Amino acid sequence: MTTTVLPSTEIITLPSDQDASGRTLGSEEIAAITEAIHTGTLTSTKGKFVKTLEKRFAEMIGVKHAYACASGSAAVHIAIAAIDPEPGDEIVTTSITDMGALTPILYQGAIPVFADVDPKTWNVTAETLEPCLSDRTKAIIVTHLFGNPCEMDAIMQLAQSRKIPVIEDTAQAFLAKHRGQYVATIGDIGCFSLQQGKHITTGEGGIVVTNDDALARRLFLLINKAFGYGDPNPDHYFIALNYRMNELTGAVALAQLDKLHWSVQQRQSTANQLSELLVGVRGIETPYVAPGNASSFWKYCLRVDGDVIPGGAVGLAKKLKDERGIFSAPRYIQKPAFQCQVFAEQRTFGNSRWPFTLARPEAVDYSRDKFPGTFSGLESILVLPWNERYTDEHVHYIADSIQQAVSELAN
Ligand SMILES: *Cc1c(COP(=O)(O)O)cnc(C)c1O
Repeated sequence: MTTTVLPSTEIITLPSDQDASGRTLGSEEIAAITEAIHTGTLTSTKGKFVKTLEKRFAEMIGVKHAYACASGSAAVHIAIAAIDPEPGDEIVTTSITDMGALTPILYQGAIPVFADVDPKTWNVTAETLEPCLSDRTKAIIVTHLFGNPCEMDAIMQLAQSRKIPVIEDTAQAFLAKHRGQYVATIGDIGCFSLQQGKHITTGEGGIVVTNDDALARRLFLLINKAFGYGDPNPDHYFIALNYRMNELTGAVALAQLDKLHWSVQQRQSTANQLSELLVGVRGIETPYVAPGNASSFWKYCLRVDGDVIPGGAVGLAKKLKDERGIFSAPRYIQKPAFQCQVFAEQRTFGNSRWPFTLARPEAVDYSRDKFPGTFSGLESILVLPWNERYTDEHVHYIADSIQQAVSELAN
């Protein structure tokens, strides 16, 4: 095997979503946050920034209700709590997602039941969800992983035939479209995150959306210690936390919102450009987006064929990093979610293992043969960070680097 190390002058540092180089934070955010501070009102219960954010976000994606909250994890938690499972009820979810979408199930006393994924998209499908449903299924959570919409027609058909509500985890999928419709508005509740690495950011933050008035009322209360602000005789109606977004965050989020369409369009056009440049490169497959759908390209994922490229995704990642300074993540989350200690060892409250003590044995059976798509999908995935600040030059650099690495590695 030959190794060509380029002179360091030819190594380009790509914009990163972990600092200013790859974020859209600027004078608009500074002006907004300054204005918020001058009002002296930093709680959203009294201020105008968070309320304006909620109104404008709802209008942007065409949904009746939007509520801002503390994080994407908080958004998923209140979505589950709004559906109000009994302890031991089952929530069917995906085995490849962020932990923030999973632990809320346990906090709400429900059992996460992990569905397998389609190894081509790393998303759940109606076919992988169906065998996980039981008479105890209280909700389905789908994650539109990396911004690529799940096949929602079949999923909604399945869910509606069983009268099971669907929560869309759209933390990675701002403005992604399924058959022309924004994700988060297809199921019963949509959940967004404004964490540092998402399409737009406030460092931490979240938004939930719904078209259902009754669910909207519960979502609002679940953010606000279940206190009935504005009611004739308000009280704390049920168990709930303070999951509010503050006005400083709301001000930054409002300024970021103006840049969201641009960010998503940039990511889409550079991702499509890379896919075109990589046509015909042996041993790798570019992202599959189903016809009629639009991914918002939170990340750009390659499928690496280990039979063609010795060392597979891991080998390719190492070469890209060592020789071109391009960071990427083989295996994405390293292992399926159900292999993390919290699930595998049922580490919850004290030594109780609750709510797992209420689970049907089949619901917590994580045998490898139940998850062929998950294991093969993680084996072949190479996650490239993606960014709205990538230029033509960056995309060509990435494409050339991949082409060269593959040509040196491939059999
Ligand atoms: C980021 C993310 C979350 C959690 O959001 P936080 O704001 O980090 O709590 C949930 N689900 C998915 C798919 C995510 O990417």
